[in-house]
Amino acid sequence: AKAAGRNNYQFFDQRLNQAAARRFELESNLRSALAHKEFELHYQPIIDTTTRRLHALEVLLRWRKGGSDTLVGPDEFIPILEENGMIVPVGEWVIRTACEQIMAWQGQGLAAVPLAINLSARQFMHDGLVDSMRRILGETGIDPSLVEFELTETALMQHGGRTLEILRQINGMGMRLSIDDFGTGYSSLAYLKRFPVRKIKIDRAFVRELEASAEDRAIVAAVMALANSLQLSVVAEGVETEGQYALLRSHGCQFAQGYLFARPLPAGEAAQLLASSVLE
Ligand code: C2E
Ligand code: CA
Ligand code: CA
Ligand code: CA
Repeated sequence: AKAAGRNNYQFFDQRLNQAAARRFELESNLRSALAHKEFELHYQPIIDTTTRRLHALEVLLRWRKGGSDTLVGPDEFIPILEENGMIVPVGEWVIRTACEQIMAWQGQGLAAVPLAINLSARQFMHDGLVDSMRRILGETGIDPSLVEFELTETALMQHGGRTLEILRQINGMGMRLSIDDFGTGYSSLAYLKRFPVRKIKIDRAFVRELEASAEDRAIVAAVMALANSLQLSVVAEGVETEGQYALLRSHGCQFAQGYLFARPLPAGEAAQLLASSVLE
């Protein structure tokens, strides 16, 4: 029994080592990813539910690891970037590249479409954030009102007393703010009144079972009522079916995003969409 126990322990130990080795490899690959131009941006349409037409594009980061054909999704590497601080330069690259893309599209005569860019907690807490935003605005010449930042409740709450000041500075430069994954944080709602936020995004968790779940419909109705009384607009995330879409519209939700309309698209396909400007 003792020998078996030792074997189990060795087996467990070996697996831990393998996990640590994988993690180490991932991290060192990530360190060179920016310099090797392995990151790319995809763009997912957010549609206006009154017209079913394009309202904005959410910018979503992808990693073409080792320049290969496979794209790694952000859930697999953003937590690592957050942990080791690389999210700061990578996040700056995201903002800059997205703004440059908009300007390039405008140069090709395509419609100026607003962008929604994700900001992580660590990025938001970084002292250089506002300066780097100001620099990017100046260097790309983008109309600031085309740029909206998405922040989760958790990211906002981690910054304590500085939160309001930073939000005001971002707002003061003419850019907009929205609350991402609304309803999944643990905070009180009081912040909605204090912060210069214009939009909230209802998390996919409340949309997924909307057709089957009376509870989720009640939550959506409550969020809509809250948003209306605070004059915030609402985006529903993860809309996959016509049934979900119809329910969201019946609740007065102004914007929607999800596979029903389009998946996140590489820049070339997003440009085609802008050129045709129609969604099925
Ligand atoms: P998020 O901000 O909540 O983004 C929405 C996620 O839902 C995206 O996953 C999108 O592809 C996915 N999605 C959209 N419509 C549907 C749908 O109808 N059904 C389902 N099942 N999923 C849908 P993605 O691209 O894998 O991104 C995951 C998360 O990674 C994002 O969640 C965001 O928190 C983070 N992220 C992505 N890009 C960036 C970035 O540039 N910076 C930072 N800090 N975070 C990012
Ligand atoms: Ca988002
Ligand atoms: Ca979200
Ligand atoms: Ca999410």
